[in-house]
Amino acid sequence: VTRNRFGNIERKPVEYEAVIGLETHVQLKTRSKMFGTSSAEYQNADPNTVVDAVSMALPGTLPVVNEKAIEYAMMIGMAINCNIARVTKFDRKQYTYPDLMKGYQITQLDEPICYDGYIDLPLDPPVRVRINRVHMEEDVARLVHVEGPQGGTIHSLLDINRAGTPLMEVVTEPDMRTSEQVESYITNLQHIIRYLGVGTANMEEGSFRCDANVSVRPVGQTELTTKVEVKNMNRVRAVVRAIEHEIERQIAVVESGERVVQETRGWDDGKGVTIPQRSKEEAHDYRFFPEPDIPPLVITEEWIDSTQAKMPELPIARKDRFVDEWGLNEYDADLLTAVRATADYFEEVCAGVKASTADVKKAYAKEAANWLNGEMARMMNNDEISNMSQTTVKPAALATLVEKFRKRELNNNSAKQAFEVMYTKGTGPETVIKDLGLGMVSGADSLGPVVDEVIENNEKAVVDFLAGKEASLKFLMGQVMKATRGQADAAQATEMIREKLATRR
Ligand code: ADP
Ligand code: MG
Repeated sequence: VTRNRFGNIERKPVEYEAVIGLETHVQLKTRSKMFGTSSAEYQNADPNTVVDAVSMALPGTLPVVNEKAIEYAMMIGMAINCNIARVTKFDRKQYTYPDLMKGYQITQLDEPICYDGYIDLPLDPPVRVRINRVHMEEDVARLVHVEGPQGGTIHSLLDINRAGTPLMEVVTEPDMRTSEQVESYITNLQHIIRYLGVGTANMEEGSFRCDANVSVRPVGQTELTTKVEVKNMNRVRAVVRAIEHEIERQIAVVESGERVVQETRGWDDGKGVTIPQRSKEEAHDYRFFPEPDIPPLVITEEWIDSTQAKMPELPIARKDRFVDEWGLNEYDADLLTAVRATADYFEEVCAGVKASTADVKKAYAKEAANWLNGEMARMMNNDEISNMSQTTVKPAALATLVEKFRKRELNNNSAKQAFEVMYTKGTGPETVIKDLGLGMVSGADSLGPVVDEVIENNEKAVVDFLAGKEASLKFLMGQVMKATRGQADAAQATEMIREKLATRR
């Protein structure tokens, strides 16, 4: 025991760590519903127009499992290193709510499709988040609450379109410790889902929803403590803020000598706080029992094998390959592999470049990456286009531009000008370069006379430069660029000016 100068026992401040587990619901992009025949694509449909007897829970209807939804869940499971169950079963979860058509939800309680997996988060150092399970269930209908003139809901409308949409749930073990890890987990899972093409994984549109389970404990303690479940976050940013707030709140509770109570809290994005929604005592008893209308589903080895064969290269593996094969840095590789269409586009550009050696190939790849992450990304951002394949620039056209740029047939200005026209008009590089009269002005024959003239006409700058004022060189270069309409080989022009003026010293 150490005592301070007042004779009191010195208490060391306790250091806390957070423990976080995520439950994520993901809508799967199948053509039809989880158990019914109507279209699962309801986002742009008028209310109550994409429904069927099963999704509306009409009497006498029977659910039929959507094979594609099971296959998509298996693909996600494989992507996150899960075991695939050989038999999986469905269960009824009962509760009453106006958006729950049948009075129960068909979900999976204890025999999920996938179990015991993990995602390695590409952080420094890497963090392994174990996956408890991946199971399938159905989404509920949608309530639209209509506000009266004095505020408050005066009546509610029911749109059944969403009822029965395939919903996959991915549950992690409580392995995350910081909001940064949670953010990485979410974005990596989103990338995987989009790569597989099984969902849009968009938080804002509600096709990807996260509930965060958060607890805090003194650093070094291994036992889990009471957790709080936080809901209602509809952006990654909101999840991060909600978790950070919840960690601080819980530490304050513990520090004040109180205990954290097990409850569900909702995130209020405007106020930046979590507020109590429901305590443990109010928790539902869902009266789960095996769904009698769906027999246990057998997943055969053949089905697993044929699904495995459909798996594409996944984002993290592809990023590593881009670093190895194309010599990109981590940052560029990260940007290019986040979206599959971008990664495909980049590789098509690289395939279109004629390179003699591995080094030349890498140099071209690096240049292509610069154009895609630079000019292309900027233009797409302006036009709010997210998919590179939707632009009018063909990969082969960009490959040609990159080659001309690398071979110094065009300088930076001209290449950018050409790219802009290629992007806005969809014209090929040769035509653009001819139409705009672009081309590098270089060599003693073309560039030499221009430099001579600039030196001739700018006596003051020349004298200043000779007197040691380096800035005057910039001015002279500006004049050369002006005279060549921005097309001079900048490096060569600088060199020429220096050489020609050196003789005057
Ligand atoms: P429940 O029985 O309340 O549903 P589960 O054990 O099924 O709890 O876990 C639900 C989620 O909560 C999982 O993502 C899990 O990782 C997470 N979790 C469980 N215990 C804790 C804890 N003490 N702190 C943080 N997260 C936890
Ligand atoms: Mg649970």
